Order: sequence, then structure tokens, then C-alpha cells
Amino acid sequence: MTILIAVTLDDILPPAIAIYTLKIELKEAVQMEQIKQRDIQIIRSNRKSIAIEIQPDLRIIVRAPFLMTDLEIKKFVAQKEGWIEKHLKLMKMKKEKLEMQPKVPKMTMEDIRALAEEALKIIPGRVVYFAPLVGVTYGRITIRNQRTRWGSCSGRGNLNFNCLLMKTPPEVIDYVIVHELCHRKEMNHSRQFWAEVEKVLPDYKKSRQWLKENGRELIMSMPEKTEF
Ligand SMILES: [Zn+2]
Repeated sequence: MTILIAVTLDDILPPAIAIYTLKIELKEAVQMEQIKQRDIQIIRSNRKSIAIEIQPDLRIIVRAPFLMTDLEIKKFVAQKEGWIEKHLKLMKMKKEKLEMQPKVPKMTMEDIRALAEEALKIIPGRVVYFAPLVGVTYGRITIRNQRTRWGSCSGRGNLNFNCLLMKTPPEVIDYVIVHELCHRKEMNHSRQFWAEVEKVLPDYKKSRQWLKENGRELIMSMPEKTEF
């Protein structure tokens, strides 16, 4: 047992927190009672209950009250062995999956500007085309490079569109335009709203799905700090 901060009875006031590591033997249930010793970090504080945490870096942490003895902690951890092994495995898989994910190449500010220029050429024309089909008017059209949305529509009917739409298929661009124009009728995502979208674009669900599947990666490719 490595004690990083010793708690002694002589202390007049108990320290708010004590952290140390216990080596606890865990039998792996499967395969020949193999004994595994794991370093478990113990964090003691004024809490009343005991809890085990698996950190993303696979450290095992036990949070325990001051009054619990190390023996009691060891017993508790041994009982939770199955849970610990299961969650270690899950966390490991999560970690590997994250590491395997290809890093999305970042666009430069120049790329973003080029996309915005392209969007200015294409989007207003599509808005002119779709507005009468939806049956609404609109205000200003602005192209933005937001990380959070593909488009928006203000109460006054001003429309914003994300320049990254230029990296999506044409039907997705049309879907976002129709979506925002339909907000001129319904400022919500109610059933009536989606019915309005469907009237103009019966296939809109495919575009919505496309954005769900590919949108995040596109937004991740945006350079950091790019407001213009
Ligand atoms: Zn919406």
C-alpha cells in the first residue's frame, strides 16, 4: 500500500481529502482463477458512501468515507470485481474506437471563404425558387460558418445558412432551405411543421438522415475559431 497522504489520529482536524493507492487482488472469473493485482486509487473524503469509477485512462478510483477501513474497502472492491472487469473492457473498447477514428483533415480559412462565396452564388437562387412553393416571404439571406447549425430563420424572416452546406449533396441544400422557409409558417418542429416540409420535399427524410450521418464530420473539419 502506498500512502501519499497519511491520515493520523493526532490530526486535530481531519484533512478534507486523502488520496493513496491500494493494490487489490482481483480474480478474473473466467480462466483458471487467474489472480490479477490492480492498483486502485483511493480517495477518502467526508462522503458517506463508497463508489467505484473507471476513468477514461483506465485508472480505477474508489471514493470512500474516512471512517471505512482499508479492509472494508478491499472487501467491497472484491465484491464488485465483475463490474470492474466489465467496465474496464468497455472503457478499453471505447478508447480503441476513439483512437481508430480517422482524424478529419481541417479546412483552412481560405477553404471556408471559398465555400461561403460559392454558397452566396447558389443559395439565394434556391431560396427564390422555393419561397413561393412553401408560400412564404423572407428577409435577408446571410451565409455563416457556424459549428452548431445548418440554417436558421429569425422571427423577421431573415435566413442564415451554413457555408458547409456546399459540401453536402444538392438535395440536402434544398432540404435545409425548405426547412428554414417552413419556419416562416411554424416556428417549431411540430407535426404541422414537418407536414409543410413534406409537401414541398416528399423525400426530405433522406436528407435529414444524410445530415445525421455525415454532418458531425463536416463540422469537425471546420478550422478552430472561424467567425466571420
Ligand atoms: Zn428547424
